[in-house]
Amino acid sequence: MIKIHKKILMKHLFKITSLILLLSVLNISYAKNFVINDEYKSSNFNSRIKQIIIHYTVSDTEQAFEELLGQDKHRSVSSHYLINNITSKKYPDYIYQLVPESKRSWHAGVSTWGSDSDLNNSSIGIEIVNKDGNLYPFAEQQIEAVIFLVKQIKRRYDIKDVDIVGHSDIAPGRKIDPGVLFPWQRLAENGLGAWYDKADIKDFTRTIKSVPDRETVKQLLIKFGYDFNTAPKDPKLYQSIVSAFQRHFRPSKVEGVMDLETYIILSALVKKYR
Ligand SMILES: [Zn+2]
Repeated sequence: MIKIHKKILMKHLFKITSLILLLSVLNISYAKNFVINDEYKSSNFNSRIKQIIIHYTVSDTEQAFEELLGQDKHRSVSSHYLINNITSKKYPDYIYQLVPESKRSWHAGVSTWGSDSDLNNSSIGIEIVNKDGNLYPFAEQQIEAVIFLVKQIKRRYDIKDVDIVGHSDIAPGRKIDPGVLFPWQRLAENGLGAWYDKADIKDFTRTIKSVPDRETVKQLLIKFGYDFNTAPKDPKLYQSIVSAFQRHFRPSKVEGVMDLETYIILSALVKKYR
């Protein structure tokens, strides 16, 4: 009897060992399945999307598609959205989504706004077809399309007005888009993006009689969102950041000099938003 049992045991043992050997050779693992219970919900969370960044393409529609779709081997750029200027048979619409909002598109490059840097991680990028938004006006349809789109994205992620900015705001000295002809004030009138209140300008005009020292101005620009840390050795950094601010909020005169009017606008914006 003992002999038979031993024989059967050996037979089974051989089978099990062979099976284990076979599984390890085939590299198959049998993971246990678990139920993911989502019955309990935390209220402590926010959106990963925090900014909307506006650009112009520096190219026409055809070239913009080519570059942003990844067909240009020399440039790895993309954006979540592209706003077309002239519709054609090939490109019949004004708004194109090229990258899902849940993915990271490559539009910002080295960039900082407030406490965030590398803004590809936390922003939605919108490219507008225009060769130079400092020279050529945007088409009316493009502006209406931007307003339509930004309104939706802002609502979807609860984005603050102060975090709807241009490429030049997040990469001053390196970028000048979307340019002085981008109508930030019109966007703000539609409840999108920051703009100063006229009453604050009036008050500050009465109380502020001169521009303070550079360090005080710098601290105020930092408070609003501009970054002085990424390129600290750039001798023109201060001028570039003042230019970026003017490009956005005082586009009639962009010369990188912090004059009284620019300083009053900055003070009014910091008071309202920061
Ligand atoms: Zn850009």
